[in-house]
Amino acid sequence: MGHLRGGQKVKLMSKIKKNDIVKILAGRDSGKTGKVLSVFPKKSKALVQGINMVKKHSRRKSNDQQGGIITKESSIDISNLMIVCQKCSRPTRIGYSSLSDGTKVRICKKCKEII
Ligand SMILES: [Zn+2]
Repeated sequence: MGHLRGGQKVKLMSKIKKNDIVKILAGRDSGKTGKVLSVFPKKSKALVQGINMVKKHSRRKSNDQQGGIITKESSIDISNLMIVCQKCSRPTRIGYSSLSDGTKVRICKKCKEII
C-alpha cells in the first residue's frame, strides 16, 4: 500500500465566511468596510465587495459597444481583514464556543454574541 501524503493540514478553517462584514486593516482600502463575497481558504484570501478594485481592460466587441476599462474586485489577504460584529458593530476578534448540542459557533470577543 502507498503511504500517506504528509504535510497536509487538515485543519484549514478560516474565521471569515462569505457574507461577513469585514474591516480592511491594510493597503489602499485600509479603514473601509465591506461584505465578503467569497473566501479562498487555500490561498488565505477573500473577495470583499467594493474593496481592492482593479481596473481590467475589456475588449471591444462591436463598434457601437465601448471597449475599455471595467473595475472589478481583486482578492485581498485574509490577514488584512478583521470581522466586524454585526451585533455590536465593532471590529472584533473571533472566539469559538460550543452549544449544548455540540455545534461550534463563532462568538464576538467583545460582546460575546454569536456571530
Ligand atoms: Zn460584538
